[in-house]
Amino acid sequence: MDVLEILKTIYPAWLGRLSHQLARGEGIRQVFLAQLNSFYQRLIQTVETGNPAWLDPVLDEWVRARTESELDEHESSISTVLDKMLALTYDVAVENLEGSDALQLLGAVLPAFTHAFQYTTSQETAQHIEHISSQLNLARDSMERLDKSKSDFISIAAHELKTPLTLIEGYGAMLRERLTITEPGDQTEILLRGIDNGTRRLREIVDDMIDVSMIDNDMLALNFQPLWTNRLLEVIQHEFNEIVEERHLDLEVRPFPGSREMTFGDNERLYQALRNLISNAIKYTPDGGKITVDGRQLPGFIELTVQDTGIGIDPENHARIFEKFGRVGNSSLHSSGKTKFKGGGPGLGLPITKGIVEAHGGTIWVESEGHDEINCPGATFHVLLPIRKEPPDEKIARLFRASIEAENLEELI
Ligand code: ADP
Repeated sequence: MDVLEILKTIYPAWLGRLSHQLARGEGIRQVFLAQLNSFYQRLIQTVETGNPAWLDPVLDEWVRARTESELDEHESSISTVLDKMLALTYDVAVENLEGSDALQLLGAVLPAFTHAFQYTTSQETAQHIEHISSQLNLARDSMERLDKSKSDFISIAAHELKTPLTLIEGYGAMLRERLTITEPGDQTEILLRGIDNGTRRLREIVDDMIDVSMIDNDMLALNFQPLWTNRLLEVIQHEFNEIVEERHLDLEVRPFPGSREMTFGDNERLYQALRNLISNAIKYTPDGGKITVDGRQLPGFIELTVQDTGIGIDPENHARIFEKFGRVGNSSLHSSGKTKFKGGGPGLGLPITKGIVEAHGGTIWVESEGHDEINCPGATFHVLLPIRKEPPDEKIARLFRASIEAENLEELI
């Protein structure tokens, strides 16, 4: 018998068997019957023309009909159905046809099924990729919204806190003027110092919040001036002298090639960034530890390193600590202080430092084997800063032309 004739002959048996086996329930069976019928007609055309693309429209319809949960679970429901369809076609052929006709039929439909498997697999994969990327987009949108809310919160809270804080500072100063302090260490003096310390700390936090919201909104304006890294580091080292002594730390600032060279940058902001790194090194290093500030000159850049022998940071947190509120560990265990051991703050120092370094065209990263408060593996923060022989703004360049020329002359000599 001709293969097309065979196909037409077994159609009723094929349809009955498949609809019975594959569709449960009368309602579903009706819909499924129509689908099977359409598939079978296209199967006949495929065999007749030798072109399996005839099946594609039905297969496309099946791929499109997949539910969200099937997509979430990455199930290939269509391959399973095709698998069963092929097995049942084989059963129907064996039961209803002579051996040679059955073989002829299977030989004719097998390439069509092979194509159907390949086609649906590739369509399903494409559909999966689309589904996953749309889920990623949704997740990214919601992360961006969350980050924006965080940013807005910081900015609003900082501005709301500024006014009462200014009032407390003002009244504190007035109180100090009115009260007579008889001798140092007097009870009134201690109380006033307490108010001063509290307001100063609060002012630092509010200022950090304002800085973070400026960085978030690309509003950090840099004031480019000539600067010398060694001088900045000297000032910071001097500032920490007392606490370093108190906590028996060794803070070494090594001279390195390039540190004595003039470069253009924002003195105040870079001072703030480097101070944050050194104050963190102090905070997260137990008493008796060592902090080393070093660096090297690279073509067009200087690389500064702040290395400590402290508690270290787990590699999985190396990126997170540069995000706002990215402090790690149990917040209830943090004592609040700028230089006490583990005296954590709100987790804004490193995002500000990163913002300042990046605004200068530099990068910052950390290296540390891990976090271990017993063995103290330490951490090393790297700051890569471009050396600028001229400020980016032409007006400022004109202002400093004389000092640039003097510096160039010194280099020549
Ligand atoms: P914080 O105000 O909490 O110090 P930072 O933004 O300066 O905030 O630092 C974020 C977190 O990074 C800290 O809470 C701390 O867990 C970790 N960290 C920063 N510097 C160091 C360091 N030198 N050694 C170990 N951990 C550090």
